[in-house]
Amino acid sequence: MSEKMEFQTEVRELLHLMIHSLYSNKEIFLRELVSNAADALDKLRFLSISNSSLLPASSELRIDIAANDETKVLTVEDNGIGMNKEELIQNLGTIARSGTKSFMQSITDDAKKEVSLIGQFGVGFYSAFMVASKVEVHSRKAGEEQGWQWTSEGTGEFSVDELPKEKNGTKITIYLKDEDDCKNFSQDWQIRSIVGKYSEFVTHPIYIHSLDKDKKEKEERLNEKPALWRQSAKGIEEKQYKEFYGLVSHEGGEPLAWSHNHVEGAQEFWSLLYVPAKAPFGVRYASEQNRGLKLYVKRVFIMDDCKELLPNWLRFARGVIDTEDLPLNVSREILQSNKIVSNLKKHATKKILDTLQSVATDRKEDYAKFWVELGAVLKEGFYMNWEFLDELKNLLRFRSTKTGEKEFVGLEEYVARMPDSQKEIYYIIGESLSAVQGSPQLEACKAKGYEVLFLTDTIDEFMMQSLLDFKEKKFHDVALGDLEFEKTKEEENAEKESKKTFEKLCEVLQKNLSEEVSEVRITSRLKDSPCMLVRAAGGMGAHMEKLMALQGMEAPKTKRIMEINPEHEICKNLLQKAEAGEDLGSYPTVLYGQALLAEGSALQDPAAFVSAMNKVLLSK
Ligand code: ADP
Repeated sequence: MSEKMEFQTEVRELLHLMIHSLYSNKEIFLRELVSNAADALDKLRFLSISNSSLLPASSELRIDIAANDETKVLTVEDNGIGMNKEELIQNLGTIARSGTKSFMQSITDDAKKEVSLIGQFGVGFYSAFMVASKVEVHSRKAGEEQGWQWTSEGTGEFSVDELPKEKNGTKITIYLKDEDDCKNFSQDWQIRSIVGKYSEFVTHPIYIHSLDKDKKEKEERLNEKPALWRQSAKGIEEKQYKEFYGLVSHEGGEPLAWSHNHVEGAQEFWSLLYVPAKAPFGVRYASEQNRGLKLYVKRVFIMDDCKELLPNWLRFARGVIDTEDLPLNVSREILQSNKIVSNLKKHATKKILDTLQSVATDRKEDYAKFWVELGAVLKEGFYMNWEFLDELKNLLRFRSTKTGEKEFVGLEEYVARMPDSQKEIYYIIGESLSAVQGSPQLEACKAKGYEVLFLTDTIDEFMMQSLLDFKEKKFHDVALGDLEFEKTKEEENAEKESKKTFEKLCEVLQKNLSEEVSEVRITSRLKDSPCMLVRAAGGMGAHMEKLMALQGMEAPKTKRIMEINPEHEICKNLLQKAEAGEDLGSYPTVLYGQALLAEGSALQDPAAFVSAMNKVLLSK
C-alpha cells in the first residue's frame, strides 16, 4: 500500500532549487551520499557495542556503488543502521540539519547567490536531485524485520511503501536525468574519479560494481589507501610518510620533514604537515596562491588549498588537517570566522615552526638548503605579523663577514660569538652579496672584529622594520651615520684634533656637493676607503630607495651624509689644496661617485662621473 506525503515547505523550495540549479559542480551529490552511507555504518558499529546481535561477526561494513550506463541508473548501498518508516518520513521529508536551514535562509535573502552556495553548503541527501529525475530509498533498520521504500521525483511529494528487504541498511537508487551533465554519472570512470577525489580516505571499504567484457559483474575496491594521518605514528614507517607526501603535495621529490599529530581535548583533530625540501612551483613569488593544506572533516575531503589553515608566509607547507568538529557542509564564511578553524591554524603554524626548528638544530646542512630555497618566504612572517616572532627569529639565517658564501649564521650563534665589547647586532642591506661585501661601511666593524650580517633579499628592508632586537641586543644598520663604538681617551682626542684639522676641507667639499649631500664630516670608522655615504637615523636607506623606484614610486629624496677618512692619502692631499685656497676641480664629483659605486648604488650621471675621473687622471 503506497502512502503519499507532502514535503515540508522548505524542502520543496530546496528541491525546486536543486532541480533547476545551474550549479556546475554536480558531482558533489556522490560525496554526500557516500558520507551518509559511511555515517550509517559508523552508527551501526557504535550500537553494536552494546547490542552485538546487530552486527554479526561475519559481516563486513561496506559501501557498494553500481552504475549501469545503459539504463542510466546509479545505486549507492550500505549495510549500516538503515531507516524505518517514521525515520524515512522524518529524515527525508523535512529539513533537520542546521547547515541546510542556513542555506535556505541565505538564498531567500538573495536568490542570486544560489549557484555558488550549493557548492559551499553541500546539501546532503537532497543534492541527488541535481542529477536525478527520480530517487528511491530502500531501507531496513537494523534490528527490525520490515523494509520500506521511499520514492520521489523531487516535486511536491514523496511516497513510502512497504517493500521487503533482505538485509539491514539502505540502498539509494538514482535515475539519472537525460541531460549531458547528469547522465554521465553512470560511467564507470566518473565514479572512480569522484570517489577518488572526495572519499579516498573514508574508513569503510567502497566497492564499485561494473560489467566486464562478457557482461559479467565484477567488483573492485576503490579506496585502498588508509588515511595515514589517522593512524598511530608508532606504526608508520618513514617510507610511508614519504610516499604519502607525493599523494598530498603532487610534488616529486622528498619532503624535508614532517609533523604528525593527534590532538584530543576541547577539539579533536589529526594533522600531518610537511615541509618540502624544494620550493613548490610559484611559491616564492605568488604570495596569494598555493597554500597547500587539505581540509578533511571526519575523513571526508572538503577542500584543497584551504587558505584559512595557514598564514601566508607558510604557504610552502603541504599536508592534511582532519577535524571531528566542523560540519561536512562547512562554508567559506564559516571558515573565515570560526574559532575551531583559527585553533587549527594556530596548531599548524606552531607545528611547522617546531619542525623547522628541529631541522635547524639537528640537520644544519639540510636546513641551509631549505633556507636558500624558502628563507625569503619565511621572512615575510615578520611583516605585518606579531605572532610567533620569537620562533621566527630563531629560524633566521644570514651570510656575514664571518661566514663563507655557502655557510650561514643564525642569531643565536651570532650573539654567542660576539666579542665582549660589542653591544649590538650589526647588519648591512644591499642588492647582492658582492655589493655589500665590498662596502666601505663595513670597515669599522671589520677592524673591531665585529661580525656584520648581509641582508640581500628584497624582503629584508621590510623585515628589518619589525626585527628590532634579539636577546635584548638591538639591531643596527651600519649604513647609519650614528654608529658609535666605545673609544679610548686618546682616540677621542685624536678625533677632536682631526676634526679641527679637516674643517676647511669639509667646508669646501660640502659647498661643491651641496646638491648631493646634506653634510660632509670626518669619521674614524673608515680604514681603507677615502669616503662613504651614511644616512641620518630615520632617513631612507639606499636599498629602499631602489626598491621604491623599481615599483615606480617616487622615493622622497633624503640627502645623505658624506664621511671622509682623515687617515687616507687622498683626503690629506685634498686638505692641502683646500687650505691653499686651490680649486678642487673634479675631485668632489669623483669622491661622491666612488662612494656610490662602493656601496653598490648606481651613478645618477655616469657620463659626468667618467669625464670628472678622466680630468683627475690627467691632472698632475
Ligand atoms: P545529514 O546527513 O547532514 O544529516 P541528509 O539530508 O544528507 O543530512 O540526511 C538526512 C538524514 O537522513 C541523516 O541525518 C540520516 O539520519 C538519514 N540518512 C541519510 N542517508 C542515510 C543512510 N544511507 N542510512 C541511514 N540513514 C540515512
